[in-house]
Amino acid sequence: MLVLEIDTVSPGQTSVFDLTFLGTGTSTGIPVIGCDCDICRSTDPRDTRLRSSALVRTGHATILIDTSPDLRAQLLRARTTRIDAVLYTHAHADHTAGLDELRQFNVLQQARIPVWAETTTARDVSQRFAYAFDHTFSWFGGKPDIDLNVFDRDRPFEVAGIMVQPIPIMHGTLPIVGYRIGQLAYLTDMKSITPEAMALLHGLDVLVLTALRTKPHPAHLSLAEALEVVAELAPRRAYLTHLSHDMGHHADVAVTLPDHVRIAEDGLVVSGIALGADDRHATIGQGRAKAG
Ligand SMILES: [Zn+2]
Ligand SMILES: [Zn+2]
Ligand SMILES: [Zn+2]
Repeated sequence: MLVLEIDTVSPGQTSVFDLTFLGTGTSTGIPVIGCDCDICRSTDPRDTRLRSSALVRTGHATILIDTSPDLRAQLLRARTTRIDAVLYTHAHADHTAGLDELRQFNVLQQARIPVWAETTTARDVSQRFAYAFDHTFSWFGGKPDIDLNVFDRDRPFEVAGIMVQPIPIMHGTLPIVGYRIGQLAYLTDMKSITPEAMALLHGLDVLVLTALRTKPHPAHLSLAEALEVVAELAPRRAYLTHLSHDMGHHADVAVTLPDHVRIAEDGLVVSGIALGADDRHATIGQGRAKAG
């Protein structure tokens, strides 16, 4: 597994975490079933992309962002043996369809797993996975045993001892969320963002952002649009994710990017991201209050 070290820890900040890209493909994944284009037939492993999920790992907690349809294979690959909480960005199937795989973590941990979503996503998840909420077993493993927590899109909340700031973004016409955790922002399936939400994203070390393909799309940033957002936010590093086979070969696109912008790949681990001091969260809260 490729490990990319990022030395971002300021003196006095000892609390850091890792981000693991479990899947970096759009809803079809790459290769696309039945497609014989150059990208889908590529022998470069970086051109194979499972659906979107990511892991945030601190010294004491593992938080999963989204439960992709490929979750079982992804968590086996990442050797994940514990999940303390799940954060959902939105309810589209490519981000939620693997929810049932949480059963094994109920078994391993002999505990229910807290799941966090904003109102619409929570409603959709509870309808689509009604069996997880309707049935009762006297043991763990018969169904996903999750506690669904609803958060306010505008307010930070605490998950497994970590402050998480939701970032309201638009996925075409659908309001969804990204997340800021310390010096990381994870914004997948984004088409647009308000200036107020942009104000929550200053001073990032690592920005993860959707870039679907080179041509424009109504619900996702194109490559050029994503690079504009990166330029405006000026993070120390940016990683592009949620790619379709229409983006082209990883190797061909990567050489066209600015030095601090990379294309994410499945299995990539970004290490040493600062969780940030408490004053970081105070700053975010004040920014929001002024904006709001
Ligand atoms: Zn998606
Ligand atoms: Zn293809
Ligand atoms: Zn989506």
